[in-house]
Amino acid sequence: MTDPMDEIFTSARAVIPGGVSSPVRAYGSVGGVPRFAASARGPHITDVSGREYVDLVMSWGPGLLGHAHPEVVDAVQQAAARGLSFGAPTVAEVELAEAIRERVAPAQRVRFVSTGTEATMTAIRLARGATGRDLVVKFSGHYHGHVDALLAEAGSGVATFGMPGSAGVTAATTAQTIVLPYNDAPALTEVFAARGHEIAAVITEAAPANMGVVPPEPGFNGLLRQLTEAHGALLVLDEVLTGFRVHPSGWWGLEQAADDGTRTWEPDLVTFGKVVGGGMPLAAVGGRAELMDLLSPLGPVYQAGTLSGNPLATAAGLATLRLADDAVYARVDEAAGVIADAAGAALDAEGVAHRVQRAGSLFSVFFGEAAAAAPVRNYAAVQAQEAFRFPPFFHAMLDAGVALPPSVFEAWFLSAAHDDDAVSRVLDALPAAARAAAAA
Ligand code: PMP
Repeated sequence: MTDPMDEIFTSARAVIPGGVSSPVRAYGSVGGVPRFAASARGPHITDVSGREYVDLVMSWGPGLLGHAHPEVVDAVQQAAARGLSFGAPTVAEVELAEAIRERVAPAQRVRFVSTGTEATMTAIRLARGATGRDLVVKFSGHYHGHVDALLAEAGSGVATFGMPGSAGVTAATTAQTIVLPYNDAPALTEVFAARGHEIAAVITEAAPANMGVVPPEPGFNGLLRQLTEAHGALLVLDEVLTGFRVHPSGWWGLEQAADDGTRTWEPDLVTFGKVVGGGMPLAAVGGRAELMDLLSPLGPVYQAGTLSGNPLATAAGLATLRLADDAVYARVDEAAGVIADAAGAALDAEGVAHRVQRAGSLFSVFFGEAAAAAPVRNYAAVQAQEAFRFPPFFHAMLDAGVALPPSVFEAWFLSAAHDDDAVSRVLDALPAAARAAAAA
């Protein structure tokens, strides 16, 4: 029997590079034909042939409440009826900026953009403009969108396709980016000792989840704060993926809540995306008032956007943040814990060496003896895993009606709509997937 998706994918590839609008969607590292989506509701996504899956991608993060939450959809429909785009300021933008500041105190001022890429690009330009310095430090395996300066040794699709960076990025740009191994305090200290006076900013994923989930070791984010401050550089905390997902105040909030009050710290700039747009194209950069006020029209750092602060997107974001109460976070944490534990148990039962790593409700599986023996702390350890066990694992899950992110380098995403029924469908699928991984 032919899969209707084959024909659609053939047409897609004839008109769209790789048939997709974003690379990892193409199933390039797991093989097979991507499912073309028709609709999604709650914890489920349905493809164009009518097959329904429990979704553990959730649009790669935005779907904290589940797909198409009725109150979010209603807010968007009401906004749409008032007009799709104004190119003028709106009250909803003010309310959303206030909602962000209420949850994440370091975001004293907020500028809206449409994608996480724009948010990190703006943060880097702002850091360079504020310090008058050129160098940016990033960590290998971290993904900050497809900003030229930040594509070196990046995670997400760049990792999935085994690329060191991207063609089309100039040597001059690359020369201004210093890439360091993650969780490596000596390497960081050394770079600051040698070139601290030239460094505009360190950008870091608050808790990295684009090379699989590799949490910061205790004190590492605090060290970043300490060193940047001591050398007059800025700390840019990328919470595009973790923000409003792992805690109302993001990974930063989770760390502060876990602290006894003696080691609290604040970033200079924070980037948001995904959840903050409630499934619509919206992202933001926030930070200390005197830095943010360097942005145009007040200051010399230019930044703009025709669709920035779009009224449908701000409506979705506001509705999402207002609905994301403690019960939502408790449910997401619980569902994530149950599935993470069950994935580990299923792999154990089949004798598949592995390690499940978590950062709040985000988690992923690393395969192989090396990962089983010691925590995966950096991109080198991520790359040393037995990645070949993932494609059969992924396809067994898909065959059983569970859509995982189609790459071993991505986190699994839960939502508050993942009820006991959805979770038990995932649990039922795991033993056969573990057998497939064992046989790989
Ligand atoms: N930063 C992080 C941490 C991300 O996870 C992503 C997207 N996965 C981005 C930035 C880029 O966001 P966008 O895809 O909206 O450009």
